[in-house]
This record gives sequence, structure tokens and C-alpha cells, in this order.
Amino acid sequence: MAQTAVITTCPECGAKIPKAGMSICPYCVAPLKASPGKSIDREPLVQRLVTMPEKPDYAAACATAPPWSPEYQRAKNRQMQGSLLVVVGLVFVALQYLLSDAGWGFWTGLGGVLLLVGLWMALRGMLERSKLDRLELQKRPVYVIERSSVTDFDGKGTVRYFFDLQFADGTDGIYFYTGRGVSEELYANGMTGVAWTRGRELLGINRVRV
Ligand SMILES: [Zn+2]
Repeated sequence: MAQTAVITTCPECGAKIPKAGMSICPYCVAPLKASPGKSIDREPLVQRLVTMPEKPDYAAACATAPPWSPEYQRAKNRQMQGSLLVVVGLVFVALQYLLSDAGWGFWTGLGGVLLLVGLWMALRGMLERSKLDRLELQKRPVYVIERSSVTDFDGKGTVRYFFDLQFADGTDGIYFYTGRGVSEELYANGMTGVAWTRGRELLGINRVRV
């Protein structure tokens, strides 16, 4: 029996692969070895997928956007909290100006610090968000060929999933999905539906049976 060499670094991005036997690089989503799904005949799956727009559930699946990814939500929260700090900082500076004869004092200093921290947070959140917004949001009929996962992806217990997805136009690709927590419904192998993707990230799949 042929023994394939254990891949320890990604040939695509050079990152260290955390676990032996992984089929996908958890950092850049490059395939490290062919998935078992590669050997199956995709043609019947494609034939099923092209009928999806005729299904009664299809319109609703296309209309319901999945929730933001955790990364996007974090950026949004950071932008909001930063903006709030800016407002509070401005209020402190204005109050001190109105209430003291000198026009500046302790509250000016505190307000100034809040203002700067708030500006930095808001700017960082805005940049992170706009980076994600630049990636095109796509929704397409999909068949889940294979799911795999890496636990503790970032050392904080985050689970990152990888989905080998087959699309109706005959193309396929590997997309990552960051775990949302215990209550989440996970997409199983063989599931069909409308997949919402942004770049290489899978945001969600709304089930449509075909
Ligand atoms: Zn890589």
C-alpha cells in the first residue's frame, strides 16, 4: 500500500499545518490532498442542482440573508463602540469648557483620551468592514460534497469548518466557515440549498431539497 508523505507546511502559503491528515490548509484553504468527493461523478449532482430554481422553496432561500460572520460582527461592534466613545469624549470636553472658567481641565484630558481611543477603534472597525464588503456576496445553488473541520483554530476554541461545494455551473471549490457556537445548525454532506458566499467564506446555506 502506498504511503503518502505527511504534509506539515502548506505548499500554497507556507503556514504550518496544525494536524496531520488534514485535506485543506486552514489558513488559505488550499487543498493539501484530493478529497474523497473528487472521485465521485459530479454530473448527476449538477443535473439536480440546475432544477433548484423551479422548487417552491427557492425564492425564500434566495431572499433570506444569513447572519454576518463573527469577524464581520466584531468589526461592526468595534466601529459602533468607537463612535460611542467619541461622542462621550466630546461631551466631556464640551462640559469642561462650559463649566470652568479656564475652559479646560481634568475632564478635557479624560475626554481627549476617550476621543482618541474611540477614533482609533471606529477607524479600525470601519477598515475591517470595508475590506470584507469589497468581496462580492454571491448566492448559488449548491451541493455539499464534503465537510471537515479544525478545532481550536485560533487558540480560543474557535472551530473552523471547510466545505467542498459543488455549484450548478459545474464548478466546485473549498470554502471556510467559522463556527458560531453550540446552537448552530451544521450543513451535512449531501445537503442541497442556496449557498451565500463572500470570497472564500461560506456565510450560510438555506436548505432547498432537489
Ligand atoms: Zn495555506
